[in-house]
Amino acid sequence: MSIERVDTLVVGGGQAGIAMSEHLSKCGVPHLVLERHRIAERWRSERWDSLVANGPAWHDRFPGMEFSDISPDAFAHKENVADYFVAYAEKIAAPIRCGVAVKSVRSNAGRPGFHVETSAGVIEATSLVAATGPFQRPIIPPLVPQNAGLFQIHSAAYRNPGQLPEGAVLVVGAGSSGAQIADELLHAGKPVFLSVGPHDRPPRSYRGRDFVWWLGVLGKWDAETPPQGTEHVTIAVSGAYGGQTVDFRRFAERGMTLVGRTERFRDGVMQFAPDLAANIAQGDANYLSVLDEADAFVARNGLDLVEEPEARKIGPDPRCVTEPILELNLAKAGITAIVWATGFAVDYSWLKLDAFDEKGRPKHRRGVSPVPGLYFLGLPYLSRRGSSFIWGVWHDAKFLADHIATQRGYLAYRPCARGKSKGS
Ligand SMILES: Cc1cc2nc3c(=O)[nH]c(=O)nc-3n(C[C@H](O)[C@H](O)[C@H](O)COP(=O)(O)OP(=O)(O)OC[C@H]3O[C@@H](n4cnc5c(N)ncnc54)[C@H](O)[C@@H]3O)c2cc1C
Repeated sequence: MSIERVDTLVVGGGQAGIAMSEHLSKCGVPHLVLERHRIAERWRSERWDSLVANGPAWHDRFPGMEFSDISPDAFAHKENVADYFVAYAEKIAAPIRCGVAVKSVRSNAGRPGFHVETSAGVIEATSLVAATGPFQRPIIPPLVPQNAGLFQIHSAAYRNPGQLPEGAVLVVGAGSSGAQIADELLHAGKPVFLSVGPHDRPPRSYRGRDFVWWLGVLGKWDAETPPQGTEHVTIAVSGAYGGQTVDFRRFAERGMTLVGRTERFRDGVMQFAPDLAANIAQGDANYLSVLDEADAFVARNGLDLVEEPEARKIGPDPRCVTEPILELNLAKAGITAIVWATGFAVDYSWLKLDAFDEKGRPKHRRGVSPVPGLYFLGLPYLSRRGSSFIWGVWHDAKFLADHIATQRGYLAYRPCARGKSKGS
């Protein structure tokens, strides 16, 4: 069996793999990117039909290229995002092989590098970058049995309101996905219940600047660790309908029923935690803290940004918040479907290497693993809050490419012959 040899193998042809390829090329590192489907596949086929980017096009992109077909202040549709990465890969002549899945990776015995089994044969690589995404395996909490007579779907499989059966829907999770899907279902005329846990909900824009700008100038994208007790911050933002602040009170005014965290299901009855008011209040506090910090930044730097006092007006709590539903008989409420917007886990079962902690999480420092030659890219908080986002992964890839190039330099080093006298 012939074995192909590459210096650096990048697994995954999403934004992380493409950014990695760009920086490896700049550092002169020969490499190959393997993608099991198509470039930026998750943007194509693992997102709902109407999804647009959460950040404006001037921000949610790589430094080397602008979106060609939309205004910098608009929010790119998911197909535009996927097209952008296809065009970017072409622009940098990324050596990507699509339709090839990596099945397993083992360390070579007694020598550096990795033995990689793929769907198209064996490859040996000196370095390997796992760029298979921050959100790989949809998580549905095991609360409601499949035979409970309800249509259940994860947000990764949700496409549009027409997919759901007649009747009301419970959306569990109010991060960006849950909030946007619930809003879309409400727009489509469905009765919607939304289960709201702890969340941040920054203003979409304030004093004429989008929140991505505020998070940038306030240094918040650079936060190195998530808030205590959370793996990754649930942040409720949306670029849908031109970009609006996620405001759960306004959802309720439009007819949505808010409930607390979904806790238990028994005999057709769903139980919710009595935490709805606290979660809404915490989201408000986060919202107001961004306004406070933004105002202080404006004052400190003497910026000419028009004041926006009306942004501080927060409406009264709706009845579903002041008199929260703690138990709901789903059939009696007419609920026929549940959309679980409950997040994702990673799946590195193909990496047969000692690079994970007791909870199966990759061990690394800024993406550099303790296994020589193995790197992770694209994970939430890999180096900072921006790491799993389009613009952030590009900077992490730069750091890793530099690390790989430096290691190659060490491996290539040969000492000058000692003790040789002149002329000998
Ligand atoms: C609903 C949603 C909306 C988002 N919106 C935004 C946004 O607006 N702005 C933003 O900056 N970020 C956004 N993100 C976050 C992030 O940008 C995306 O998750 C993005 O897809 C991550 O890119 P990635 O390249 O790291 O991983 P992925 O896009 O997951 O790419 C990994 C690739 O690896 C391939 N792969 C996996 N396993 C193998 C294997 N064994 N062999 C070969 N190939 C393999 C997959 O097919 C995939 O194409 C969003 C995330 C979600 C879930």
